[in-house]
Amino acid sequence: MNNFTFQIQYMSTVFTEFSLHPYNTFSVAAKAKYFIEFSTQDELMDLLQDAYWNDTKKMILGGGSNILLTKDFDGLVLKNSLLGIEVLSETSNYYYVKANAGESWHDFVCYCIEQNMGGVENLSLIPGSVGASPMQNIGAYGVELCDVFHSLEALEINTLKKREFSAEECYFGYRESIFKKALKDQYIILSVTYRLTKNHLINASYGALSEILKQKNIEHPSIKDISDIVIEIRQSKLPDPKQLGNAGSFFKNPEINKSEFDSFHREHGNAPFYNLENGKYKIPAGWLIEQCGWKGKVIGNTGAHKDQALVLVNYGGAQGEEIWKLALNIQTSVKEKFKIEIQTEVNIY
Ligand code: FAD
Ligand code: NAP
Repeated sequence: MNNFTFQIQYMSTVFTEFSLHPYNTFSVAAKAKYFIEFSTQDELMDLLQDAYWNDTKKMILGGGSNILLTKDFDGLVLKNSLLGIEVLSETSNYYYVKANAGESWHDFVCYCIEQNMGGVENLSLIPGSVGASPMQNIGAYGVELCDVFHSLEALEINTLKKREFSAEECYFGYRESIFKKALKDQYIILSVTYRLTKNHLINASYGALSEILKQKNIEHPSIKDISDIVIEIRQSKLPDPKQLGNAGSFFKNPEINKSEFDSFHREHGNAPFYNLENGKYKIPAGWLIEQCGWKGKVIGNTGAHKDQALVLVNYGGAQGEEIWKLALNIQTSVKEKFKIEIQTEVNIY
C-alpha cells in the first residue's frame, strides 16, 4: 500500500501513485495515479458523485488477468470487490443465480458445483472475476459464458444510472461483447445473473475432455467429473500466473472466410482448422505462432511459453511495453508468413 492517501475523504480511501504490480497477472510493475477499492455500491456512488473525477480517465479492475499495462495508468483505477451470491428463483429446469461482480469466477463455479447447478463446469479455473466474465464472453472446452448468461446489471459511469442488459443487448461474440466494443469503458458491471441447469446436459465434446473421460472409463460424467478433468488439464498445460506472469491466451484464434481459407489451405495443408457454424474457419493462433518459430523463444525478460505459444510470459521484471513489443513482432511475423491478422484478446492499457 502506498503511504500517500487522498485529501478528500470518501467511504473508502483513494491511494495515489499506487503500485499495480500485485493487481495484474502479468506482474508488470506499473502504477495508478489514483486507486480505490470498493466493496459496496454506496462506496462507488459516494466517489463517482464527486465532480472532481468527471474528467479523470477510469479503469475498472477485476482480477487483472486479462490486461497488459504498457505504462503507468494516468487516471483512477476502480478495483471491484462487490461480493455476494444469491439464488433469485428456480423453475422445474433452472436456477437463476445472481453473483456480484467482485466474486472470483472460479469460486462461483465451485459454488455451482457444490449446489449441483450445471452449466459452468467446463469453465472451471478461469482466473478473474464474475464482473469480467461477460466482457469477453469467457469460453473454454466447448462452452461460452453466453450459454448460461441471463442478464447483468451495470452502472453507466457518466450518468450514474443503473441499467439491466439482456443477452441480446450484450452482443456476445467469440471473446467479444458490446462492453469491449461500442460501450467500452462506459459501464461498470455490478452483478451478473446466470441461468443454471437442474437436469444437466453434459458437454464433453471437446477433444481433450472426451479423451480423458475415456481413459478414466467414465461413461456418465457428473458436473463435478467435468470440472475435475478441466482443472487437471489446465494445471498440466497452462503456466500458473503466481509462478510465471501471463494473461492466458494473448491473441484470439483468427476466423477466416472460405476464399481466404482455400488459399491458406492450399499452401499449408498440414494446418489444423475448425469449421464454424457461421461458415468461417478457425485456425488455432497458437499453431500459427509456433510455425513462425516463437514457441519457447526467450527475448529479454519475455517470451512465448514453451508448451503453449499463445501464452506470452513475463520471466521476471519485464516492463509492459517489452511484452507489447514482443506481441507486435509476433503479430507481424504471422501476417508476413500466413497473410492472417491475429488480434489481441488481452486488453491493452
Ligand atoms: P481484468 O483483467 O481485471 O479486466 C479485463 C477487462 O475487463 C478490463 O478492460 C477491465 O476494465 C474490464 N472489467 C473488469 N471487470 C469489470 C467490471 N466489473 N465492469 C466493467 N468492466 C470490467 N479467458 C477465457 O475466456 N477463457 C479461458 O480459458 C481463460 N484462461 C485463462 C488462463 C490464464 C492462466 C489466465 C491468466 C487468463 C485466462 N483467461 C481466460 C483470461 C481471463 O482470465 C478472463 O478474460 C477473465 O474473465 C478476466 O477477468 P478479470 O477479472 O481478471 O478481468
Ligand atoms: P487446445 O485444446 O490445444 O486447442 C487449440 C485451439 O483449438 C483452441 O484455442 C480451441 O479454440 C480450438 N479447438 C480445439 N477443439 C476445438 C473444437 N472441437 N471446435 C472448435 N475449436 C476447437 O487449446 P488449449 O490452449 O489447451 O485451451 C483449451 C481451452 O481453454 C480452449 O477452449 C481455450 O480457449 C481455453 N483457454 C483460454 C485461454 C484464454 O486466455 N482465453 C487460456 C487457456 C485456455 P477455442 O479457444 O475457441 O476453444
